[in-house]
Order: sequence, then C-alpha cells, then structure tokens
Amino acid sequence: MIERGRRAVRAAHRAEQTTVVTTCPDCGEVRLDVGAVTVLVDEGAAGAVRLAFACPMCRRGTATRIQRAGFGALRSAGASFRLLTRPAEADEAHQGPPLTAHDLDAFCSAMDDPAWPLLA
Ligand SMILES: [Zn+2]
Repeated sequence: MIERGRRAVRAAHRAEQTTVVTTCPDCGEVRLDVGAVTVLVDEGAAGAVRLAFACPMCRRGTATRIQRAGFGALRSAGASFRLLTRPAEADEAHQGPPLTAHDLDAFCSAMDDPAWPLLA
C-alpha cells in the first residue's frame, strides 16, 4: 500500500513524500519512506515481486511478496529496484568432478598474475 501526502502546507514547494505501508513478520504494520525499500523482481519465479526493507522498529531485514501491479507505482515513487535473474550457466550441464580448495587456490593465483585475464 502506498500513501502520498505533503509534509507541510507552508512548504508547498517541497517534493511529495511517499510512504510505503507494509508488514513486518514480528511487528505487524510498519510505515517506511519509499527510499528505505527495494523492489525485487525475480524473473525466474514467474515474475514474482517482493518488497525488501529493514523494519524501522526491530531492524530485521525482510522481503514480503507484493502484487505485481504495485511495482510500477513504487518504481515511479522512487523506490530502488533490483532485477533478480538466474544465470544461464545455472542450467548448463556440468561435467567433471566438483571444484576443490586446490582448484580455487590455483584460480586465485592465476588472477594475481599481471597477465590476467589474458592467460590462455
Ligand atoms: Zn519489525
């Protein structure tokens, strides 16, 4: 839910303040400035949209699912936006044994080489 309102009548030149009303699992209904929330759109989960925020009362970080229809309004109000996508590599078939600590050490050493990433 989004609420819009003006801060003060005598400060009519100030920008509108947008307040987002959402629910913390522990504290119940909370109100946040739109700048304190991030809209997460997960393209891999049928376009699921969640609202991520740190609760102003308990400081717990949470992400609640919201209606996709609310996404546009939040975005136009100035909420941060993050698109979550599943990398295509996650669906590739992988062959060979899993990486080991030795493999990771060798990779880190290779990145320390001044010729990185031009090593062939
Ligand atoms: Zn809370």
